[in-house]
Amino acid sequence: MIVSRFAPSPTGYLHVGGLRTALYAYLFAKKNKGQIILRIEDTDQKRHVEGAEDNLIKSLHWAGIEFDEGPHIGGENGPYRQSERTEKYQMVTKELLDMDKAYRCFCTEERLEELRQKQEASKFPTGYDGYCRNLTREEVHELIQKGTPHVVRLKVPKDEIVFFEDIVRGKVKFASHTVDDQVLLKSDTFPTYHLANVVDDHLMGVTHVIRGEEWLPSTPKHILLYQALGWAAPTFAHLPLILNEDRSKLSKRQGDVAVEDYIAKGFGKEELINFIAFLGWNPGGTREIYSLQELIEVFDLKKVQKGGAIFNLDKLNWFKEVWRQRRLHDFAVREGLERDIQETKQGGYKITIIGDEARHIFSRELLKLVDEYLPENEERDEYFLLRCLYAVKDKLIQEPQKIDEFIHFYFEAPELDNALFLNERMNVDEKVVQKALELSIQALGQIEEWDEQIIKDIMITAIEKAGLNNGQVLWPLRVALTHVEFSPGAFESAWVLGKDKTISLLEQALHSL
Ligand code: GLU
Repeated sequence: MIVSRFAPSPTGYLHVGGLRTALYAYLFAKKNKGQIILRIEDTDQKRHVEGAEDNLIKSLHWAGIEFDEGPHIGGENGPYRQSERTEKYQMVTKELLDMDKAYRCFCTEERLEELRQKQEASKFPTGYDGYCRNLTREEVHELIQKGTPHVVRLKVPKDEIVFFEDIVRGKVKFASHTVDDQVLLKSDTFPTYHLANVVDDHLMGVTHVIRGEEWLPSTPKHILLYQALGWAAPTFAHLPLILNEDRSKLSKRQGDVAVEDYIAKGFGKEELINFIAFLGWNPGGTREIYSLQELIEVFDLKKVQKGGAIFNLDKLNWFKEVWRQRRLHDFAVREGLERDIQETKQGGYKITIIGDEARHIFSRELLKLVDEYLPENEERDEYFLLRCLYAVKDKLIQEPQKIDEFIHFYFEAPELDNALFLNERMNVDEKVVQKALELSIQALGQIEEWDEQIIKDIMITAIEKAGLNNGQVLWPLRVALTHVEFSPGAFESAWVLGKDKTISLLEQALHSL
């Protein structure tokens, strides 16, 4: 059976690159009816971050990537945190020492530093020179007796050519003499990353190691370690780097790299997974929209590209829009409104539901929610309610449980905080607020047919005439109507509230200045 794994170090958050690695490992396992393990690589206790593991698990779960084994669910190959597996690494090291495939190295930091400087000065590649490789049994025994601190190093064979086959990179060949006598066990008897990684992949029965390209240079070390232990190495697949648009390595400086940031910005898991899946892979053909389930069906590790993959925010936003439409579509289908739906060329949907028809959409399902989440309210006139729901429908479909947060201010606006009117970025000062409110009362007062498009047209004309810009009027207008920082826009809010309520809120606000 195929077994893949995701082996993150708990740095505090899930990097989008990490999500891609996890996703590919998951898709590959599921496509092949195999299993995927989550392993926490926390050997570097110095870098311990509180809550990091929980964060990782939460984000992966949010994305829909479920594991067959891991620290949060257990399994027969546990424990799943390297910090709880120290004994296993020590045992394997002892075996290697007994087989004379490893040796103890007593070199001091100073000697190693001196060596490095010499090598650098003479333009030799840096690396351990094997000084302790040939200590006699007696010498070693004596040094141990004296309690001399030491590490354990792998005895890397001198003149071998080693191959491995990488699913993405093809045949990789290297000469063993280019590989250092790597440290396996540190002087505090904790393992290095290399030892722990190899031991765990073997003991956990991992058949496929799927990881980022930054680990490719470590793979020769791992292969030599598998050889020394007489273990069959797993198959490797090294995924291409993820790059900024200027082809530099994806970094915090140029945008968000934490999955949590994208969640906070309102991206849904469907668009994020769809977008991430295409960072370095595609199934061929022109279709781009795939759900997680559909990705499992078409995923093929052999089609992963070698070259770096560009992280293009516009593309992500495009996926977001398409998925927004699809969610709306599914919702409408559930409510029997297919006739309003047109499929677009890109695999998205255009939906035209207006006015009265909203009644049908929001009928059963959402009115049920309203009962559940909104306090009893005398003013609960059904059309008003429908307009509220219509104004926040996209958000509601994603997070129905937040209904109260989305629309409470239409029922009862919180106390008005005048400071909210001012907005430096939009150039709104006290004078502008006054003007904006007066202008809005004037313009909206003339409207007879209270329709969102008409509200918009009349307001835009009035704003232009007054020589202001849109934000200068629409910001104060929206604040006057909702009293909150975030809400649907000014036109929508006016439409939701109806003419009388709108004018009265505007007058109140003007009064309070
Ligand atoms: N712990 C490594 C990381 O944080 C994983 C390397 C691997 O997958 O082998 O990326």
